[in-house]
Amino acid sequence: MKLLTTLLSLCSALAVSTAALAEYPDRPITMVVPFAAGGPTDVVARSLAQAMSTSLKQTIVVDNAAGAGGTIGSNKVAKAAPDGYTVLLMHIGMSTAPALYKNLPFDPLKSYEYVGLVVDTPMTLIAKPTMAAANVKDLLAYLKSNGNKVTMANAGIGSASHLCGLLFMSAIQQDLTTVPYRGTAPALNDLMGGQVDLLCDQTTNTTGQIQAQKVKAYAVTSAQRLANFKDIPTLDESGLAGFRVGVWHGVYAPKGTPKPVIDRLVQALQTGLKDPAFSKRMSELGATVYDSKDATPQALKAQLESEIAKWTPIIRKAGVYAE
Ligand code: ASP
Repeated sequence: MKLLTTLLSLCSALAVSTAALAEYPDRPITMVVPFAAGGPTDVVARSLAQAMSTSLKQTIVVDNAAGAGGTIGSNKVAKAAPDGYTVLLMHIGMSTAPALYKNLPFDPLKSYEYVGLVVDTPMTLIAKPTMAAANVKDLLAYLKSNGNKVTMANAGIGSASHLCGLLFMSAIQQDLTTVPYRGTAPALNDLMGGQVDLLCDQTTNTTGQIQAQKVKAYAVTSAQRLANFKDIPTLDESGLAGFRVGVWHGVYAPKGTPKPVIDRLVQALQTGLKDPAFSKRMSELGATVYDSKDATPQALKAQLESEIAKWTPIIRKAGVYAE
């Protein structure tokens, strides 16, 4: 009798969850962005949310859970209900956090189900509008004699701007004073106002301000010059050989999110990446949209694993970590 009751309740639980899956999504989905509103991750998320919501026939609401270089928002999703109604858009920081944080409250390799890769965004080394140096060579010379009073903004330990700054300081063999923000949207505002001197940030945030000449652009972090900025050299060609960072982004869901839900999200992501409005916006902002075959859990997992393996020794060598 006891067995029968257990079986019956199991069957009804299964029926409920199957029904719930069949209707998924039947209410708005939250996409957590672990950085400030108006910044580069937020810009990608809002565009992507729009593109994915068409195929999901549900609204995707962006929730900016900023702070601690993206780890607060990432942790929020790691601890959220695994029901498909909370997802995360996070970038390269997912692969650098394990080496940077001694007590990371989540595990990038264990706390999530992977949905897929989204875009890859180059970065730009920019300065306040009154920075006198005319080019990278002059900037490096200026930093050599004034480095101790030059400030470099970032979005906290674990952010892409932090990683770029770390690589830059290691390449020029000089420490600068770093100033953390909750995202590079407020950092860029302060750069334009002259409150900080330097910032290395994604083109999804800096393109408009570079075009409007509200900041000084020195270099890009891609291997080749960018189509949107043919006159801005790469750091690699400007004397920092081998300097290269591309900020890849992925969509994650809490561990335990049912497979049919993940499949539905993957389908919406693949459709979303092909949305002409999304790809147009991304290309205007210098970001490269991943091919549909990379908008899969397998591709995101493989990317994450290889990036953790790539960055961990570099970060350990730099000796930087947060508690
Ligand atoms: N992507 C971050 C933001 O949206 C900044 C960063 O990672 O540097 O503000």
